[in-house]
Amino acid sequence: MQVTICGGGNAAHALAGLIAAREDWAVNVYAPYGNEARRWRQGIEARGGIAAITPNGTLVGRPTRVSANPADVVPGSRLVLLALPAFAHEFTLRGIAAHLDGRAWVGAFPARGGFDWCAAEVLASTGGEEPSTNGKHSAAVFGLQTLPWACRLTAYGQTVEILGTKAAVDVAARPTRLASEVASLLSAPLGLRLEPVANFLGLTLANTGQLIHPGIMYGLFYDWDAQPYDEAPFFYQSVDAEVARVLQQLSDEVQDVRAELERAYPDLDLSAVRPLDEWARRAYAGDIADPSTLQSCFATNRSYTGLRAPMRSTDAGLVPDFKARYLAEDVPFGLAVTRGIAELAGVSTPMMDQVIVWAQKRLDKQYLADGRLQGRDVPQTRAPQRYGFEDLDQVCQMPIHEKTR
Ligand code: NAD
Repeated sequence: MQVTICGGGNAAHALAGLIAAREDWAVNVYAPYGNEARRWRQGIEARGGIAAITPNGTLVGRPTRVSANPADVVPGSRLVLLALPAFAHEFTLRGIAAHLDGRAWVGAFPARGGFDWCAAEVLASTGGEEPSTNGKHSAAVFGLQTLPWACRLTAYGQTVEILGTKAAVDVAARPTRLASEVASLLSAPLGLRLEPVANFLGLTLANTGQLIHPGIMYGLFYDWDAQPYDEAPFFYQSVDAEVARVLQQLSDEVQDVRAELERAYPDLDLSAVRPLDEWARRAYAGDIADPSTLQSCFATNRSYTGLRAPMRSTDAGLVPDFKARYLAEDVPFGLAVTRGIAELAGVSTPMMDQVIVWAQKRLDKQYLADGRLQGRDVPQTRAPQRYGFEDLDQVCQMPIHEKTR
């Protein structure tokens, strides 16, 4: 089976190492960003393949073709996998759209919020068989709730370290039935249990990165006094009672949205939208020394040990990097999406609002204006408002309809 991996960062290398190591899979890489295609090729040539170093041993996979030109690597692929931050999804989907085979499945690692809406818009012209939310036809798509591993690229085109693998990750698909096929096809190569869920809406609300990353950034830095740091603070290990309170409230607000949608649409299955502590215990089973509280689920999680807050160097010392993906990805492609759904549902989200208002200042963006998701940068998010959804029916009817197909 031919697979194309799109991207050139940590996740793309992890996928390439693991999947290309399978004997019966031929793996191509689509790397249009900067000079990454050349760097992939040079690295692969130098080492003979991508070595994925895991705590249980090293797997080496050699991609067959690497190119910045989608025509070289996408046609003929059964799976096209976007192992990318969400802000690169639309650009990448536009690159591959004209080259996809009719039977291709396009997957996002991870989906983050609103991936299905973005894919439906961009891939509408690919002539797949599935009618999308906007009524047009689109290729089959799937998305993972989170990345299966914590991974770090250590030598470009050569080695990637897989620090920890989650026990289970949810997968949603359009059409819905594809989710279980994806789970049986990919669980073994990825080294974990993929679990099919009912719909993408559940995955959008269950995107825990949207809570964890902006929530901890806010908790650590909302009252930062502009004094530089001597060393970067630990990110997850710094979760104290106060930061945990922010995370808990964000999680509770997502549960409020879920409850309201389930009340308004009794046939809508949102069981994938778990409270944050429940998600952490399930995803990191065995990695958490003390699973008793939300705070301890983060502060004592071995997969997070040693990971530090994103910082940048200045002449005066280290300062928080507010433009790093913990805000730049997880607000427009996460929290703002959920906030947009909450607005359509009439659910109030005071902590989300507080975090978004703080983050948008740090990002020099405007998503919330006068308490509504109507700021000038909403068109650069994946909030439902960006796709012209003006009422909850437009967001909730498609997942219900899909369930019965
Ligand atoms: P990364 O920062 O390593 O990815 C960077 C890559 O994205 C670049 O190499 C390039 O190929 C592409 N890219 C960046 N900007 C682009 C642009 N403007 N246009 C086109 N392409 C662009 O990210 P990653 O660590 O591989 O993470 C991928 C996804 O997984 C993200 O959503 C991330 O939040 C999530 N995630 C990662 C980890 C991890 O351990 N790496 C853990 C959990 C979740």
